[in-house]
Amino acid sequence: MDSENHQLHVMFLPYIAPGHMVPMVDMARLFAANGVRVTIITTTMNALRFQNAIDRDSRLGREIFLDILRFPALEAGLPEGCENLISTPTPEMSMKLFPALKLLRPEIENLFRERSPDCIVSDNLFPWTAKVSWELGIPRLAFTGSGFINDCISHSLELHHPHENVESEMESFIVPGLPDEIKLTRSQLPDIVKKKTGFSAMFEELKEAERNSFGVLFNSFYELEPAYSDYFREVIGRKAWHLGPLSLYYRDIEDKAERGDKSCVSKHSCLSWLDSRKPNSVLYICFGSLTRFSKAQIIEIAAAITESGHSFIWVVGKILKMMNDNDQQDESWLPEGFENEVRRNDRGLIIKGWAPQVLILEHQAIGGFLTHCGWNSILEGVSACVPMVTWPLFADQFYNEKLVTQVLKFGVPVGNDVWKIWATEESRSPVISREKIRRAICAAMDEDGEDGVEMRKRANHLGELARKAVEEGGSSYNDIKALIQDIRLYKWNNNIGLQSYDTKFVTHG
Ligand code: UDP
Repeated sequence: MDSENHQLHVMFLPYIAPGHMVPMVDMARLFAANGVRVTIITTTMNALRFQNAIDRDSRLGREIFLDILRFPALEAGLPEGCENLISTPTPEMSMKLFPALKLLRPEIENLFRERSPDCIVSDNLFPWTAKVSWELGIPRLAFTGSGFINDCISHSLELHHPHENVESEMESFIVPGLPDEIKLTRSQLPDIVKKKTGFSAMFEELKEAERNSFGVLFNSFYELEPAYSDYFREVIGRKAWHLGPLSLYYRDIEDKAERGDKSCVSKHSCLSWLDSRKPNSVLYICFGSLTRFSKAQIIEIAAAITESGHSFIWVVGKILKMMNDNDQQDESWLPEGFENEVRRNDRGLIIKGWAPQVLILEHQAIGGFLTHCGWNSILEGVSACVPMVTWPLFADQFYNEKLVTQVLKFGVPVGNDVWKIWATEESRSPVISREKIRRAICAAMDEDGEDGVEMRKRANHLGELARKAVEEGGSSYNDIKALIQDIRLYKWNNNIGLQSYDTKFVTHG
């Protein structure tokens, strides 16, 4: 058939936060590596975060292009260049990004109309793309950035409301109807699960857009959460493809070193410091791209690391300072003398800014990962075979933690029980004591005790499964091929007047 020879063109619309943008760019590159012509829609400053990777792909002969739009920062009252949730210094400024994004919608719609691709891969946070795709007769694939388990837990809570049958915020309950016994407390649930919030209408819109899509893409692999992947397809009833761990497709050292942005430390200094350490002796600490801790909490973390006796790399990450502030003082809030002490004893590296996370995690010296349980970090930690110390804070992170600690059992919780809205300051989060943090670190880094040995075995086994999933014949390798075939089939059916999925655009409620 004609459409078999036609080169498919897929357009990607990533969201302006690293946890969404990093995996979607990886995914776009995967499509290009599989012979698809790819266009990524982005804005000027965001393009700089991954332009080098795209240039490398182009030099390899892959058809991958960027449609770069000007971000209306000034119109939204933001400083010029502020185009990503990671570059907003205060929660108030983060909120201004949303109206700015809305201003871009007509231009993005025009691009879809002009380019008329064979498929649109849209971040879930752009629900309006469902209607546009439907109007243009182009299949839309949704990308949430989370794992299957997040959707499964959310689905069960929405259906059964088990959190309404407990007496207090701290009393635990079992999430009903799931393949494993997963325990949560009401305090660990997102606000939106417990009450109507300012975001409720938006979440309804996201779900509706997903229902009206061709299917959903996951940065996951079947063997990591097989029962949840089946539940998503069979119980929730959505078409899905798992393509991950996406970070494992990019083995070039530059790809790993620059993934998501240019790193603020040289890869050589990082790697040579790690080379000087014994295998499994270093704890890697990173709380993703958006976490903000209070000064009191930073002090507890610093003390816990010191008292644990382990070497470490600590990405202190988001530093709260105004972009156009002349008084650019360092507000990383590390305790006085801490950095000098670390340097003097050669105990660790402190990274203030963007770290080459995948490069670090994969080094044999890394023996544990203190993580906020962002889904990408979980996948990257799994791929690197490291036991985890889990410290969820917001979004889907508590659900992800349960996969690590209760289902797959290769991590130790620090014991945070309180979910907070990501953009708020720390006031809502209780400070986790240095002793609790130290104990969890020592348990996860333990190489001698029975529990530690078992946990490391499980982490190694998962890492092996992850690598197999992306190799020829593996589950994710097969799913990207199947997906491309499904898009081709959709196009062919459409050309001859058949529909391969229900193209009625249904608006509920
Ligand atoms: N990341 C990185 N360097 C950093 C901070 C984050 O490379 O200094 C990457 C990390 O590897 C992951 C993504 O940014 O791919 C963060 O996504 P995740 O889902 O873990 O957390 P989020 O930032 O969305 O909370």
